[in-house]
Amino acid sequence: MKELKVSAINKGTVIDHIPAGRGLKVLEILNLSGDNTILIAMNVRSGKLGRKDIIKVEGKILNEEEVNKIALIAPSATVNIIENWEVMEKRKVEIPDEIIGIIECANPNCITHYEEVTPKFKVLSKKPLKLKCHYCERTMEEDIVLKHLL
Ligand SMILES: [Zn+2]
Repeated sequence: MKELKVSAINKGTVIDHIPAGRGLKVLEILNLSGDNTILIAMNVRSGKLGRKDIIKVEGKILNEEEVNKIALIAPSATVNIIENWEVMEKRKVEIPDEIIGIIECANPNCITHYEEVTPKFKVLSKKPLKLKCHYCERTMEEDIVLKHLL
């Protein structure tokens, strides 16, 4: 029954185990546009987390870079790649080595706040999350601000 739910699309990507309420933020971060049909289930009962959100993207296999962006707001998420109605691959999301465009630099004088440049950070540590701005070299830890969570 569970397997049936997850694989109820012919081809695409199912993002499962998103903490309840974060589904829309995940969609925003993925920035999907175009012809893909997207199904979102919110507040689904789940043994592990209590409640969870699920996103199904029809017709698109998300690549690792896309999937890893999710790790910042839904570290517990799992990603299922579906082909021919079957789960071909199951992945855990992982914080990438470089983060582009999701986070704002904590340094108010950083060029990213004044010019049309996409913020870019090198990940110094994943747990706890520690980042270094590509432009001003400011390191951030507790002061990390996720643009999309505001
Ligand atoms: Zn900076």
